[in-house]
Amino acid sequence: MENKGNIVLIKNGILVTPDKVFEGDLLVIGETIAKVDDSILLSDEDKAFATLIDAKGKYVLPGGIDVHTHFNLDIGVAVAQDDFYTGTVAAAMGGTTTIVDHPGFGPKGCSIFHQIDTYHEYAKENAVIDYSFHGVLQHLDEKIIADIPKLADQGITSMKAYMTYDFMFSDDMLLTVLRTTKEAGVLIAIHAEDDSKIHSLRHKFLLQGKKEAIYHAKSRPVTVESDAIKKVIALSHKANNAPVYIVHLSTKEGLLAIKKAKEAGQNIIAETCPQYLLLDESLYTLPDHQGLKYIMSPPLRTKENQNALWEGLFDQTLSVIATDHCPFDFKLKKKLAGDDFSKCPGGVAGVEARVPLIFSKGVLEQKMSLQCFARVMAENPAKIMGLYPKKGVISKGSDADIIILDPEQKVTISQKMLHENVDYTPYEGINVMGWPVLTMVRGSIIVKDSAFIGKKGYGKFIKRKKALIGADNR
Ligand SMILES: [Zn+2]
Repeated sequence: MENKGNIVLIKNGILVTPDKVFEGDLLVIGETIAKVDDSILLSDEDKAFATLIDAKGKYVLPGGIDVHTHFNLDIGVAVAQDDFYTGTVAAAMGGTTTIVDHPGFGPKGCSIFHQIDTYHEYAKENAVIDYSFHGVLQHLDEKIIADIPKLADQGITSMKAYMTYDFMFSDDMLLTVLRTTKEAGVLIAIHAEDDSKIHSLRHKFLLQGKKEAIYHAKSRPVTVESDAIKKVIALSHKANNAPVYIVHLSTKEGLLAIKKAKEAGQNIIAETCPQYLLLDESLYTLPDHQGLKYIMSPPLRTKENQNALWEGLFDQTLSVIATDHCPFDFKLKKKLAGDDFSKCPGGVAGVEARVPLIFSKGVLEQKMSLQCFARVMAENPAKIMGLYPKKGVISKGSDADIIILDPEQKVTISQKMLHENVDYTPYEGINVMGWPVLTMVRGSIIVKDSAFIGKKGYGKFIKRKKALIGADNR
């Protein structure tokens, strides 16, 4: 008999597509989705080759796309503990099939190719799911400006600039970058926090001996984020409406500024993260230094901000839920911080629990529809980051990146059950209903019955296209 290669038929699942949610079948041939229909029958010959999966009562969804991870991130005093193997295994176990990683800074003065080359080395032979990288901006000169389109030609069609940290960009630098990226068709991602305000508040608190974890949050109040966002919106307007992607939005005030800008026709796209939707700033006051577990920037906020972010997802002011996955052991955070929050490495894990957390707390608690869920977890990130329609959608011809989620699985999230390489999870003890039981990347099943069966190095670098920035791209 002729070998037709990989054939997988998923039967009777509840398929979530952009047009409709319906009970039906999905056929995979090779690495792609060959057919999606109410009922698909195989010939006797094909049956002999095919893998049959019964998905009765389960959701068949596009694989999750997390466009904000920090694998291998070197922050000087420490390195984020998940690499492209452990991080992508954790991602796969939680139903994510593609990541777009934000590289850390390279040596001072390095070219924009430096970190991309470094990260290709980190990822190849390690990643178990598909991946790409954002570029990172850390200084600006004529060479950087000339190289931005060249980097885009290599499939790196988005770049990040920071308004705080060591290699922060001034307003003038941002304006120049925005004019350049607009012309090059590159999307600029911005970490929007007002650096001078952070420094003055932090300085004040440290002088007063206020060094507990809660002062991390108090030194980065709402306006630190919202003022920076307003500034970015004004700069984007000045740069001929250059598209901007705001990472990890945490505040209602920032959200309202973005909503207003969008209504005025500006190309401002925004992302939030599970931690800003589900955790609040009261965690910073936990005893025994446990507040350090939640040190991240921007910090956790109040419940009022959380509610606003859920509404922002519902009304599509927010387009994406990503994780900012950047884990450091609690043990290490305590050791480096001592009694001083300002010495604690920032970041939390999240890549593994993102899909089940948002399914349970979003869809099941009726804060978003199943289709909205698929949109913010997969379709929008794919469209915005130039991966669509290869990734992010259940549709004929797309990569067979699929998850099957069992809505009856009751799980209490704990560090012990997760695969992230870190000694705690910020979501410890949270109960969820529903967990991905099967993960498929390009037709290959890499998680089955909640066990990892994939191969190290299977993941491929995806050369991204220029982003589809437009009104339907939210
Ligand atoms: Zn980040």
